Amino acid sequence: MDAIWTCRLAIVAAIVGQSAYSQAQDAPTDPVRVLVGRLDLDTYKATIKGLTQFGDRREGTARNRAAVDWIEAQLKSYGCTNTERVKYVYDSPPQPPPRQAAAASRGAAIASGEIVRGVGGSRLRGMTLPVVPNNDPDAQTDQALRARNAELPTAGPREEVYCTKVGSTRPDEMYIVGAHMDGRGFGEAADDDGSGTALVMELARVFSSPDVVTERSIRFALWNNEETGLQGARAYVTQRALLQGKEDPPGSGRYPEPRWIAMVQHDMMLWDHGMPRPDGAVSAEQRPEADINIEFQSTTRFADAGMKLAFLFRDANEKYATDYPASVGHHMSNTDSSEFMDVVPAISVRENERGMQIGAGWNPHYHQPTDRYASYSDKDFRLGLNAAQTSLAAIAQLAGASLK
Ligand SMILES: [Zn+2]
Repeated sequence: MDAIWTCRLAIVAAIVGQSAYSQAQDAPTDPVRVLVGRLDLDTYKATIKGLTQFGDRREGTARNRAAVDWIEAQLKSYGCTNTERVKYVYDSPPQPPPRQAAAASRGAAIASGEIVRGVGGSRLRGMTLPVVPNNDPDAQTDQALRARNAELPTAGPREEVYCTKVGSTRPDEMYIVGAHMDGRGFGEAADDDGSGTALVMELARVFSSPDVVTERSIRFALWNNEETGLQGARAYVTQRALLQGKEDPPGSGRYPEPRWIAMVQHDMMLWDHGMPRPDGAVSAEQRPEADINIEFQSTTRFADAGMKLAFLFRDANEKYATDYPASVGHHMSNTDSSEFMDVVPAISVRENERGMQIGAGWNPHYHQPTDRYASYSDKDFRLGLNAAQTSLAAIAQLAGASLK
């Protein structure tokens, strides 16, 4: 058993032990409630809208690089001034292959008793629609947006940005809160993943307020190259895993890479309109019973700790979210947390389960030219806001947040 693994077990025990901690935080001056109250629908929407000015933010293009610059400027303006960049090279193939399991593209009703598998170990049920990404620039009917998305990716260097809330008493330990800022499909990538990127930026804003103190560190990371196969998150893990917990320079109290306690990914936060109907149409309205889906992966080394973490987020939702509930599943897949899940406890937060629901065609805007800001209603944006409330409340408890 190596030293890192021994330390991981201690971290797992810390996560498991956190459940009781939250019980103490229900006073009128509960700092978690105060911080959750600093999130609001209009600001969240404005951040998503800001991201959509860069079209679909496809990796390897000038519009993607401009979006990274804009995100970094926003983080600094929130007071998260210690921004840094991960640099890596992506020699992209001309056309990435579709990432969908063949079973998800059937576009038909699954028969009683028939077992059809989706990604992550999931089982598809009921009506399913194809989930083939749009690769045709001309499918965008808005001429101005088509022009904005015209440049195609070229191979070469890539960058992604993060900033860090440094812990007051445990600066050497951190939670990683992430989302991917790149998109595809020749729309505005408003839901996938402007909605998750804006959520992480909103959390960075709230935690960076000068009157907020956290015992442990929190890193806000906006991954690039998710849509081509998680290369941005992989570059982070490859470059930085071995730097964990090292004080540099020695005696300085500075930890360029605090030890990872857990990683939480946010990917598609807006749409939960239910299963497609037998005619293939999807309801135009957010369903009243919409929920946030928190997923861990049951096949990883850290499945038990991931499960505990997922239920801690569900508890945070029940206590602090204003509208929509959360549920927990065990088939996390196809997002940047997959790169972390065998190294540290990891979960993803989404609008729907990635395997059974998104993978069965429940979101008609997924990777399509119609994934635009204007395609979503306030009921949709409010689901994303509730996910932000949930993650903020959970991370605030885990990191030991208080007000000066
Ligand atoms: Zn995504």
